[in-house]
Amino acid sequence: MSRPQLRDDLALVEGYHSPQVDVRVRLNTNEAAEPPPPEFSRALSDALSGIAWNRYPDRAATALRDRIAAVESADRSRTFSGRNVLAANGSNEVLQSLALAYGGPGRTAMCFEPSYALHAHIARICGTAVVERDRRDDFTLDVDDALAAIDAERPAIVFLCSPNNPTGRIEERSTVERVLEAVELVDGLLVVDEAYGQFAARSALELVDDDRSVVVTRTFSKTWSAAALRLGYLIGPEWLVADVEQVVLPYHLDAFTQLAGAVALEFADEMAERVRGVVGERERLVAELSRLDVEQWPSGANFVLFRPTVRSGDEVWQGLLERSVLVRNCSSWPRLGGCLRVTIGTPSENDAFLAALGEVLAG
Ligand code: PMP
Repeated sequence: MSRPQLRDDLALVEGYHSPQVDVRVRLNTNEAAEPPPPEFSRALSDALSGIAWNRYPDRAATALRDRIAAVESADRSRTFSGRNVLAANGSNEVLQSLALAYGGPGRTAMCFEPSYALHAHIARICGTAVVERDRRDDFTLDVDDALAAIDAERPAIVFLCSPNNPTGRIEERSTVERVLEAVELVDGLLVVDEAYGQFAARSALELVDDDRSVVVTRTFSKTWSAAALRLGYLIGPEWLVADVEQVVLPYHLDAFTQLAGAVALEFADEMAERVRGVVGERERLVAELSRLDVEQWPSGANFVLFRPTVRSGDEVWQGLLERSVLVRNCSSWPRLGGCLRVTIGTPSENDAFLAALGEVLAG
C-alpha cells in the first residue's frame, strides 16, 4: 500500500509525552489540585441554555476577551482592552499561533534550556529553526550570553518562561527588559510564557505596550482549575493581536469554551484565594524538603524541582510510584540529570508525598 510521507523536517522531531498513570496522588502535570468552586459549575449550567448551538460562535470571542482584559488590568498600572487579548484552545495553541504568525521557514526561534519543551517543539512543527542556549547550572539566565546569541542569530522569536517550567525560577525584571531590548534591535518578538504567572510576585505584563515587541501568554489550566477546558490567551500589543488573527482558523474557539471562560472569570476572588493557598503549601513543602536529602531550586510556581542526593532520580521516582505518588521524572532530560518535579497538591496529598519521599530516601 502506498502512503503519504511525513514532512522530512518532522522525522527527527520528538513528540511530547506525559504519562497518565492511575495513582492515588497525582502530582506530575502541574494541574490545580482542586476543582473550580461548585458555584462555577452551577453558574455554567445555568448559562448553557443561552448557547445557540445551531450557530457558529462569536468568531472574535469578544465577551471573553473583554473580560480577560478587565481581570488582567485589575491592580496594575496598565489597562488592557479586548483588543490586547487573543484566546485559543490552551496556551499551547496560543504559542502555536505565535509561531505560525512570526516563525516559519527561514526564521529562527531561540530558547534558553532547560525550559518548557513545547516552545522548541511547537516552533519546529511550524517549520521554524530552533537555537537552544544553555542556562547556568543554577538555571538562571546568563544575560550577557543571551544578548550575544540574540545579536548573532537574529531570532524572529525568543521564548522566556517565567516562572520557568520545570525549574520554577522567575526571571528578574531587568533580565526581561534587557532581553527585550536586544530582541527589538533584531526586529524580533519576545514571548514570555506565564502559564504559572499568578503564583509569582513579578509579571512581564507591566511591559506590554503597543510600542514594544513583547507578548505574555497565560492559561486557565493552572490558576483557574480548568485544565480540562483547554483555554489559554495572550496579552500583547494591538498590532500583534491583529497579526495573529490572520493565522487562527475561523471559529477556532467554540461557544462552550468562550462561555465557560467568561463564567470562570466571575470567580476571580475565589481563585486569588486558592493561589494564596497553593503558595502557602509550596512554602511548607520547600521547608520540609530542606530537611531531606535533596537539592532544590527556588520556585515561583505551583511546583518544585528537586534532585535527590542519596539515590538516583529514577529510583526515587519508582519508589514514589510504588507508594501511589506520581511526580514528573525529569532525570533523563537534558541538563536536568537526576531531577524530579512535584506539583503542589492539597495539604493531604503533599503530606502523602513527603511521607513517601522520606521513606524512599531512607530506604
Ligand atoms: N506553558 C507552560 C510553561 C506550561 O507548563 C504549560 C502546561 N504544562 C503550557 C504552557 C500549556 O498549557 P495549556 O495548553 O494547558 O494552556
